[in-house]
Amino acid sequence: MTTPPVESLRTDLLVLGSGGAGLFAALHAHAANPSLAITIAVKGLLGKSGCTRMVQGGYNVALAQGDSVERHFMDTIEGGKWLSHQDLAWRLVTGAVERVRELENEIGCFFDRNADGTLHQKAFAGQSFDRTVHKGDLTGIEIVGRLAEQVWARGIARLEEHRALELVRSADGTRLAGVLMVDMRTGNFVFVQAKAVVLATGGGPTMYKYHTPSGDKSCDGLAMALRAGLPLRDMEMVQFHPTGLLAGHDTRMTGTVIEEGLRGAGGYLLNGAGERFMLACDPHAERATRDVVSRAMYAEMRAGRTTPHGGIYIEMAHLGAANVRRQFRGMVERCADCGFDLAGGRVEVVPTAHYMMGGVEFDLDCATELPGLFAAGEDTGGVHGANRLGGNGVANSTVFGGIAGDTVAEWIPAHGRFVDGDRGAINAAIARALTPFNVGSRATASGDVNAVREALWDCMWDDVGILRDAAGLARAGALLDRLSAELDAAAIGTADRAFNLSWHDWLNLDNLLTVSRAIVVAAQGRDDSRGAHYRLDHPQTSDLATSAFSRVRLTVEGPTLEFVPVAFTRVRPGESLLGTVARSQATSRGK
Ligand SMILES: Cc1cc2nc3c(=O)[nH]c(=O)nc-3n(C[C@H](O)[C@H](O)[C@H](O)COP(=O)(O)OP(=O)(O)OC[C@H]3O[C@@H](n4cnc5c(N)ncnc54)[C@H](O)[C@@H]3O)c2cc1C
Repeated sequence: MTTPPVESLRTDLLVLGSGGAGLFAALHAHAANPSLAITIAVKGLLGKSGCTRMVQGGYNVALAQGDSVERHFMDTIEGGKWLSHQDLAWRLVTGAVERVRELENEIGCFFDRNADGTLHQKAFAGQSFDRTVHKGDLTGIEIVGRLAEQVWARGIARLEEHRALELVRSADGTRLAGVLMVDMRTGNFVFVQAKAVVLATGGGPTMYKYHTPSGDKSCDGLAMALRAGLPLRDMEMVQFHPTGLLAGHDTRMTGTVIEEGLRGAGGYLLNGAGERFMLACDPHAERATRDVVSRAMYAEMRAGRTTPHGGIYIEMAHLGAANVRRQFRGMVERCADCGFDLAGGRVEVVPTAHYMMGGVEFDLDCATELPGLFAAGEDTGGVHGANRLGGNGVANSTVFGGIAGDTVAEWIPAHGRFVDGDRGAINAAIARALTPFNVGSRATASGDVNAVREALWDCMWDDVGILRDAAGLARAGALLDRLSAELDAAAIGTADRAFNLSWHDWLNLDNLLTVSRAIVVAAQGRDDSRGAHYRLDHPQTSDLATSAFSRVRLTVEGPTLEFVPVAFTRVRPGESLLGTVARSQATSRGK
């Protein structure tokens, strides 16, 4: 088949994705260097896509009297079971203080306030202090809405409904030349040549049967990074949010998040027999970290003590129906849409794949191993270690998005240049993307896209989910290979590429399979249990002092794995920074 024509575009900076990370990267780059030509390319619509917009609970930041960045840092490190890159985690907690002020004073967000005018901060599970800033329970709409307005008000170009397909190196392979994209509206291929690219496509574990992220997320950035030869760390660490709505197989509402603040506020989890089981599992009961709660729920489910749809109940009625309605209006309405009374009754929930702590290895300034490529937000790994605290996700994307923007604004004039993309790589990527058009008709092709998706969901949920063991992981590895072969043999209905959502389903699955394999390989290699990764055959946590993180790369032979010792640059297991709290409180209050 002849290669279709490829349109060409040029921009100094190309930002992939318009969540908190992408929008902040563009705004900071523009503020620091207004002469840069900046383009945001996004698979969906700017301001309407991605997970930042879906943030319900809020944004962690140490502001209140008695709290401190050291305390926030220690919660992050201990929650992450000592696998975090400590300097990145420190950047997160210190940068969040600055960024939340910026969100209010420069971007125009209004967050909920106390009667004395200070920002209201609520409890979130796994934290030693109430530090989650929020706008009711619809915080993400406030953040992304205001950020998008700021982008629209500036001369930042937009490529909406443009899907990044491949990171393309220069012909000599030494730097990034640009990104091959497909204009989803026409189906045409576009090569966007850029001096620098910020990868901010937001991960998203949508390979699991129950999942929370937006439908546009299919780990595209992670798959592209793997294919470009970049290292991904902590890929075995997939976070399950304990309370996904469980409303039956036939609604897309199943899997969507019922927010953590409900447990933070004192909500109970009950098994199918109406018994509160968390008290026996953890001293923090329902307010334990997400991994602990998800495992306890899953154990109840495996033991058969389930609700009618096979999950667990959350109950809030003991906190007063009127109070719940006032505090959690959005959640009450969402549950009512599915026939549940959150304020006065019980709602069926199930653990749901929510977040990948793993991602592209990146530096403190958001640079990656590939010159010209920078990364921020959920596409990156290292900040959260083995577990992410609720409220640290949007802080991560906005803090590091801004840093990426600041970095590229300086990097482009100093080091950036336009270089030609490797033609062979572009043609190979196009040929790969067109696979499903070349296997014949749906009637004659042997693969089926829907069947592959269902099998992937079940395989990842059953064998690579909350509880893992060697046999299950081996089974999953073998099945993923078969599913890839099946996908390669799956046809889509029409040869027309314009707005062909079946084609994009195929492309999504191709990336999800690539990244699922990385998760399996990392999970096979980690033979201890910690944070989000639990091995039934290795339930112990190994010595924290010799912690090592996993690093997966994709080679022509397949994924390779190594373990790299964690550098305890700020605090060692068994130690704490909290001795220095008083000094830092003075500093952070002075900002
Ligand atoms: C339901 C829900 C609730 C959450 N609640 C909280 C919370 O209360 N507190 C918290 O801290 N975190 C929360 N999180 C996590 C938080 O949303 C994320 O950690 C964070 O916002 C991710 O930001 P991001 O910019 O990296 O990615 P996103 O905001 O997901 O943005 C990714 C962008 O990349 C685009 N994209 C994807 N693939 C491509 C491609 N191939 N080409 C071009 N563009 C592409 C998408 O369209 C999107 O615009 C929640 C997540 C979910 C799903």
